[in-house]
Amino acid sequence: MAKAPHVLVVEDEAALADLLKYNLEKEGYRVSIATDGEEALLAAEETPPDLVVLDWMLPKAPGIEVCRRLRARQETRNTPIVMLTARTEEGDRIRGLDIGADDYITKPFSMSELLARLRAVMRRIRPGLAEDQIIAGDIVMDRVSHRVKRGSREVHLGPTEFRILDHLMQHPGRVFSREQLLDAVWGSDVYVEARTVDVHIGRLRKALMVGDENDPIRTVRSAGYALDVDA
Ligand code: CA
Repeated sequence: MAKAPHVLVVEDEAALADLLKYNLEKEGYRVSIATDGEEALLAAEETPPDLVVLDWMLPKAPGIEVCRRLRARQETRNTPIVMLTARTEEGDRIRGLDIGADDYITKPFSMSELLARLRAVMRRIRPGLAEDQIIAGDIVMDRVSHRVKRGSREVHLGPTEFRILDHLMQHPGRVFSREQLLDAVWGSDVYVEARTVDVHIGRLRKALMVGDENDPIRTVRSAGYALDVDA
């Protein structure tokens, strides 16, 4: 089952870490933060991420060492790693790429530049997760501008409804239990009651159905929900 990709941000500057978390979550990623090299290695061992944003200058273990050790482990051997650095020397850049970083971005950078680079990396590694636009029936979702249209009508969704719809649109017709949706949308490490899913599905339906538009979401009794695009 495809989930919102999980990004591990390794950054010791709290303000930058918070800014990255905020923007990445807005983009639909699940984010965890580690503030030094050792914490990063522990966090990646506990929950292997889909993508790592790794600062070069870190307390305890430098970014380059973290990168090397992540590459040495089975679970993170192929995990995309994007390094952040204040250094501009060509030599360091090549060293970072040599030990297995996938991309490299120099501080200060703009958030939109970083997000574009992460999307490019994700697209390369896991194409299905990073498409900019997905279409199911008459519903079109643009993940870059965070806009959803049904036919020619703009659909206004809250962030949670957006993520639920994104997940359902990736697997049209497939039935997901509340627990599976919780896991995919909120993440398995967060405690949310199953009926919360019903509340958000209710809001999503309300936003998707205006006038005599049909209900694209099928409720499967005691099983869960599915998006039916040909109904
Ligand atoms: Ca730093």
